[in-house]
Amino acid sequence: MTDVTVEALYVVSAVLFVLSLKFMAEVRTSRLGNLSGVAGMALAIGATLLAYQSQNTSLLIGAVVVGTVVGSPIGLKVAMTAVPQRTAMSHAFGSLAVALVGAAEYYRETPSIDPVTLSVLCGEMVLGFLTFTGSCIAFAKLQGLISGRPILYRGRMVASFGTLGVAIASAAYLVANPGQGLVLLVVAGAALVFGFLLVIAIGGADMPTVIAILNSFAGISAAALGFVLDNRLLIVAGSLDGSSGLILGIIMSKAMNRSFSNILFGGVGALRASGATTEARVAQTYTPDDVAIVLRDARSVIIAPGYGMAVAQAQHVVKELADVLQSRGVDVKYAIHPVAGRMPGHMNVLLAEAQVPYEQLWEMDKVNPLFPETDVTIVVGANDVTNPAARTKTDSPLYGMPILNVDKSKTVVFVKRSMGPGFSGVDNDLFYLPNTMMVLGDAKKVLTDLLASVRSMKS
Ligand code: NAP
Repeated sequence: MTDVTVEALYVVSAVLFVLSLKFMAEVRTSRLGNLSGVAGMALAIGATLLAYQSQNTSLLIGAVVVGTVVGSPIGLKVAMTAVPQRTAMSHAFGSLAVALVGAAEYYRETPSIDPVTLSVLCGEMVLGFLTFTGSCIAFAKLQGLISGRPILYRGRMVASFGTLGVAIASAAYLVANPGQGLVLLVVAGAALVFGFLLVIAIGGADMPTVIAILNSFAGISAAALGFVLDNRLLIVAGSLDGSSGLILGIIMSKAMNRSFSNILFGGVGALRASGATTEARVAQTYTPDDVAIVLRDARSVIIAPGYGMAVAQAQHVVKELADVLQSRGVDVKYAIHPVAGRMPGHMNVLLAEAQVPYEQLWEMDKVNPLFPETDVTIVVGANDVTNPAARTKTDSPLYGMPILNVDKSKTVVFVKRSMGPGFSGVDNDLFYLPNTMMVLGDAKKVLTDLLASVRSMKS
């Protein structure tokens, strides 16, 4: 009876996970998606406790308590801008758990473990351990604990693939000689080192994509463990995790016009390739009052938000400014680049939070033809996604990435704190163009001043 109940709960839980992804695909239903995922996971944990009720469950309950005590504040207190590194830590813990359960299963079943099961276990342990160290490095880079620059050195590929080769060869040896328990330590050690070497050589700007790829690795290893443990829910959840991570990685790399191999092995973002210019150039800086004068005569305005809007939490004042302009008959649109910010949909989420109507958000392909006939484009804390080097400079790490063609509009107002580069470390020529007005300062402060100035002006 218990078995049937557990299986039934697992099925309901799997359905909730699928619904969760479905609901999260739209802003309108995304909260429901979140709730659905939480309910699915709560049910899965409850069903697992039920499944093991005849044994000593104090360890399981202890793990749930520790996980809840440690995880809840992390989930509740992390700022929106830190979600990518928080996600990296979730993958690190998840993949480590999967790899350790795999190792425990090996020691529990040996010597009677069959070669097929052991092969699957070895595969999931290699993926799990490399995802653990890779995710920890991704976290450290995004959190600024270590440099975001890729660490490149002579013989990097040989070292990386040599280490992976050691992991695979020792895993094959273990499958052939299942009694050699110590070899498992070599498999685990080599996989841990490979994850470290792989991600340390990738630039910070590519970390969100790397996290999506690691997400997919963690999911695949969880699904593989599900086969070994004969746990159908783990197979479903792992497959959903693995495929959604892969799809997300593909979406991000397509939006940057990059291949997976270029992201993983291209070393993009190293100092030598930063494209930073050394010649001293002078940009024209303006005050919010200057911008208000230009806006007074504008009939069409496009707002191009980026990561800096998220940092400054300027989305509400952006919306207020748009409202005032619209009330004066100005046509206002928001230009959304697919990789603006630090995760796909980052800008959509922030603007939805500020109650910006969804129909005012224009995707890159649709808005780009409109820039030449736009009077003023206000770039709010975006940088790389507007950098024309992506169109023209073949030696730039950004080359080939589709961008918002904000430089084509009649006037570009750039709101950021300094003349510094964006996430990729590449200088932006747009700052120095004659039709660009640089307004330096925190986006929320600048836009608040601009709003006051616009309000004080008669249209
Ligand atoms: P960005 O290139 O990182 O530029 C953000 C700008 O915001 C910075 O230049 C910064 O300049 C400014 N800023 C920071 N805090 C600010 C504040 N409080 N007020 C005003 N400005 C502030 O961002 P982006 O244009 O959104 O481009 C996203 C980058 O992330 C791209 O390189 C993209 O490839 C990468 N990426 C994104 C994703 C994704 O899914 N979204 C995935 C992979 C990679 P100051 O320091 O001078 O203020």
